[in-house]
Amino acid sequence: MEVVRTGAALRTARARLPGPVGAVLTMGALHAGHRSLVERARAECRSVVATIFVNPTQFGPAEDLARYPRDEAADLALLGAAGADLVFVPPVEEIYGPGFATSIDVGPIAEPLEGAARPGHFRGVATVVAILFELVRPERAYFGQKDAQQCLVVRRLVADLALPVEIVVCPTVREPDGLAVSSRNRYLSPAERTAALALHRALAAARDAYLAGERDAAALRRRIGEVLAAEPLVRVEYVSVADAATLTELERIGGPALLSQAARIGTTRLIDNEPIG
Ligand code: AMP
Repeated sequence: MEVVRTGAALRTARARLPGPVGAVLTMGALHAGHRSLVERARAECRSVVATIFVNPTQFGPAEDLARYPRDEAADLALLGAAGADLVFVPPVEEIYGPGFATSIDVGPIAEPLEGAARPGHFRGVATVVAILFELVRPERAYFGQKDAQQCLVVRRLVADLALPVEIVVCPTVREPDGLAVSSRNRYLSPAERTAALALHRALAAARDAYLAGERDAAALRRRIGEVLAAEPLVRVEYVSVADAATLTELERIGGPALLSQAARIGTTRLIDNEPIG
């Protein structure tokens, strides 16, 4: 596995890789969720390129950029074991050169949910994804359902800018007790870790209600809210039952929908979602 840190070195190394090339874009602090994306890319592509870049422009001023976990040695070990061929680990100046001023706004899909809770977040995401796609030029790119809105933002970006890359969305990897694996889980104290299970319990309760025939979106939101409210350490940010393609809040479930939520547990912000229908 080759590790490169500049765009120029990346282009040279990329040119030698047989296609199709699969890309996995990450912010490091890699875990089983990231590994599943690399393994899927490995199984479906002749070459696999991973990137590790903690993108400052997708963090708000009050967010956890400074304390975001970084462990490059462990990340490279995981990527090597999972089968990556090439890893791009650029310093910030390599992505955002002097006078950098362009940004990409993908419109309404970026506005609700995470977009409303984290102003500017998806502008940062769409912009860095476009830059990384241009540098890596993958035929396919693998993203996690865990960040469902991000997947929709990237699909919009790719469609609207006619980028020649196929987006593959992979299932959320969970701990055995149901907690969605996340780089931010390592911030949780043991008591907070236990409380965090409420997120998965809430989604499971709403999914069960749906499977039992409930089609009223407000009832499903209430069900999620009740389970979260029963856990005193959890502070709910939003609960959503939305159209899976547009993220418009629903009154009734008539087709594919997304149950999603964001909550704070102590100083840690967690998100999780469950597609239904
Ligand atoms: P991040 O490093 O958090 O930017 O995530 C990089 C990629 O890994 C994104 O496509 C995420 O959606 C994906 N990812 C993060 N957590 C998980 C998970 N638990 N299961 C599957 N994919 C994940």
